[in-house]
Amino acid sequence: MALPYGIKHVSELPVEGKRVFVRVDFNVPLTKDKRVSDDTRIRATLPTIKHLIERDARIVLGSHLGRPDGQHKPEYSLEPVAARLAELLDQEVFLTDEPVGDGARKVVGDLRDGQVALLENLRFNPGEEENDEQLARTLASYCDVYINDAFGTAHRAHASTAGMAAFVADKGAGFVMAKEIDVLSKLLGDVERPYLAVVGGAKVSDKIEVLDALLGRVNAIAIGGAMANTFLKAQGKELQKSRVEEDKLPVARNFLRKAGERGVTVHLPVDVVVAPSLDAAEGRAVSIDHIPPGEMALDIGARTIEAYRKAVKEARTIFWNGPMGVFEKPQFAAGTVAIANAMAENKLALTVVGGGDSAAAVAQAGVADKVTHVSTGGGASLEFIQGVELPGIKALATS
Ligand code: ADP
Ligand code: MG
Repeated sequence: MALPYGIKHVSELPVEGKRVFVRVDFNVPLTKDKRVSDDTRIRATLPTIKHLIERDARIVLGSHLGRPDGQHKPEYSLEPVAARLAELLDQEVFLTDEPVGDGARKVVGDLRDGQVALLENLRFNPGEEENDEQLARTLASYCDVYINDAFGTAHRAHASTAGMAAFVADKGAGFVMAKEIDVLSKLLGDVERPYLAVVGGAKVSDKIEVLDALLGRVNAIAIGGAMANTFLKAQGKELQKSRVEEDKLPVARNFLRKAGERGVTVHLPVDVVVAPSLDAAEGRAVSIDHIPPGEMALDIGARTIEAYRKAVKEARTIFWNGPMGVFEKPQFAAGTVAIANAMAENKLALTVVGGGDSAAAVAQAGVADKVTHVSTGGGASLEFIQGVELPGIKALATS
């Protein structure tokens, strides 16, 4: 894989016997009794960590967890993460008492080839989110090589994601980061056509920049989720109790006009699954012209699913962000599951999923390994797709 800006892959860097700092994303959910409840993000970094262990590097891991606001708050300790990582690696993981300081320096200095240390939550230090130069220099002094494998925080310019890279001679991308850059870059280049974007989720206001950016690249956009309601209302439909962003109607109208001018096809729902409330045990499909008073649209209907499935089947490049309905509830998940399956069935297309809830939906549908790529970054993947330069990626550039 050829990465942009001369970014090096960890496998190309000299790491034998060297101290290698790896910025990882161990921002995982914890149970009340402080155990890791979902270790997906820890598992995601294993290829990079095991690669470094096999090459006799001395590994220093750094991550944030939650929002401790620059203070040492024990409830945000990485201790449960260190324990889980040790189980997964089947070797000891040395957790430091603070992210930096005498204790951390000693742990890092005592590392032998193939051993692993984890710095305590980087956000215990206020300098992390401030991208403080002193903290960046201190972190850099703990290593000879800097690797970033935390794509999910690449859109943040923090001391460990951007600042410290300037003070380390050798730097590069880990396996997770490299795959993200490789696949997402393809979507910004010369793609196979038709290029379809499927966009859904909660709000037009969250995604309008993404939609605007996609307009310049795609052949068609299929819209679903609560976001579709605002577009439908902008077209004069009566949405009744459905979630609509009234203040975004002009934005939606403007978007539809621009799409028309550029020749981009916009697919909107022709039918929806409605119910009186989110708690209803079941919904029923109605035409978009006949939403009953007192009811709200909570998923796309069967005719819309067919139309979107056809668009997915015909496309050769597909980017999907945002569920088609309230997929957390099985009675309103059919539209989202159908899109996930259609993407998985299209073996001729480059199929990419981005966004936290969308990634969860693809996992729920059981097809995460049947699409080309599920991005680990929510905000980061959306910014990347917009063509925004991410500080965490720029910091790895060598050319
Ligand atoms: P992502 O995290 O993939 O970017 P979003 O956060 O934008 O996606 O949107 C996901 C949320 O949108 C889900 O919680 C889902 O329940 C909600 N949602 C989708 N469709 C509807 C709808 N018709 N009405 C209300 N909420 C919806
Ligand atoms: Mg979300």
